[in-house]
Amino acid sequence: MPHYYIWTTGCQMNKAESERLGAYLKQLGYQATAVAEEADLIVLNSCVVRQSAENRAINKLNALKALRISRPGLTLAVTGCLASSDIDQLKQNFPYVDYFFKPGDLPAWLERAEAVRILPQHPSPSTFVPIIQGCNNFCSYCIVPYRRGREKSRPLEDVVGEVRELVHRGVREVTLLGQNVDSYGHDLPVKPDLADLFNELNAIDELARIRFLTNHPKDMTSRLIEAIACLDKVCEQISLPVQSGDNGILKAMRRGYTVEHYRQLIGEIRSKVPGVALSTDVIVGFPSESQQQFQQTVDLLSELRFDTVHVAVYSPRSGTAASRELEDNIPLAEKKERLNRVEQLQEGIAGEINSRLSGKTVEVLVEGRKKGKWRGRTRGGKLVFFGDSGDFLGQLAEVSIRKTSPWSLEGKKRGKCSREVV
Ligand code: SF4
Repeated sequence: MPHYYIWTTGCQMNKAESERLGAYLKQLGYQATAVAEEADLIVLNSCVVRQSAENRAINKLNALKALRISRPGLTLAVTGCLASSDIDQLKQNFPYVDYFFKPGDLPAWLERAEAVRILPQHPSPSTFVPIIQGCNNFCSYCIVPYRRGREKSRPLEDVVGEVRELVHRGVREVTLLGQNVDSYGHDLPVKPDLADLFNELNAIDELARIRFLTNHPKDMTSRLIEAIACLDKVCEQISLPVQSGDNGILKAMRRGYTVEHYRQLIGEIRSKVPGVALSTDVIVGFPSESQQQFQQTVDLLSELRFDTVHVAVYSPRSGTAASRELEDNIPLAEKKERLNRVEQLQEGIAGEINSRLSGKTVEVLVEGRKKGKWRGRTRGGKLVFFGDSGDFLGQLAEVSIRKTSPWSLEGKKRGKCSREVV
């Protein structure tokens, strides 16, 4: 039996793509291996969002050169963001690579069974489903639109069909993925939107939960917020990257909204979706970000009090408008200092938010075991551990919370439940 080895870096989109590719290869008779030297087919699923990630992908390719040359029967393929750039140039630079194929595009040698559905064979209770690839936004710091191309939505019937099949195989929760899920469907013939997709998926029996990543503040509509509020399977968890709390920096980032708009959006979400868990992304040390502008971000985070904040220091990405037009003039030590300030602030906020769950009962979808305890997530996406000798994999369990920290909750199982508790 031939073996395949997939090396994946980057975002959830890449991980989902690798999962689908692996499932497809299994249907074609391949077996997975964790050792590149044992493989007959090696696929590198690359990320180039940061220069360091691109360097890692290129180092990995260079490291595989000797293996590829010494094993004529070995096939080496590259996909992901790296394969979205100039393929002719890549072929010149890496002549020992057999195939480069764009994300979402299976090459001809894998397409001989076109009708075969690309689905995980042994899915976990929770899995990812890409619904839209690419991005039309061109934020000044981001390479994604250049590498992943313009937005391309999957037909609604395809997504619904795939989710039905996944549920049939035991999946209870799907996370719909896209660089910007809020623009889902605008490029399709009858222009369905994400709310339409939610409605269709919500009607699938045995599907317990629907999540979605990532939203864009300029594209999130009231109609979508109302769908999240009304549909019982759509989880009260929204990821809405703000990136900065200063309008001047938002403009330089070309984000297309203001702090005032963002604040109003969060207000609308909180009033329509009670108990919603909110997360955001922040970049610190963007070119020319003054102490005062950084303080605006800190103040906004203190005011809006997110459940989770993902913070990154700015680093110029070659090929983007920011790298061409703006000087990376904040010293690294200062960037790190700002990052630490945000992390410390958020640790306190998340600790306080989570401590309010102490003594409450939450609904947990059990995803697996870790260090002798069952592990799962609440509808708001909070990680929960509980000890019990029974088998709860894939089940919804009511857990009474006894201990909290900024990162997770711990409790005692009360019983199975079919309705949302918290
Ligand atoms: S919305 Fe902006 S940051 Fe997000 S993928 Fe598109 S260009 Fe990049």
